[in-house]
Amino acid sequence: MIIGTKLSQLLKLPRLQLKPTKENCNGCNLCSHKCVMSLDVKEMVKRENMRNAECILCGECVDACPKKAIKYSFKS
Ligand code: SF4
Ligand code: SF4
Repeated sequence: MIIGTKLSQLLKLPRLQLKPTKENCNGCNLCSHKCVMSLDVKEMVKRENMRNAECILCGECVDACPKKAIKYSFKS
């Protein structure tokens, strides 16, 4: 995963990432409960920083959020 990230940076390929919208979050914590890697996703949204080496981009938090505060996006 880390090698893949470095390689995509080197080749300037678009990378999938999570994008938070802090203003939409109501603090329900469903995202953290659903996270398969047991990450504190609510806190990540609050800090507006979804980068975490343990995140496998499974999308469980995206699907779980009732306020659409987490989305997928591509970063080049
Ligand atoms: S599920 Fe959505 S609304 Fe609830 S804490 Fe997580 S980001 Fe906020
Ligand atoms: S994408 Fe999956 S692993 Fe990453 S924070 Fe969301 S639920 Fe957790």
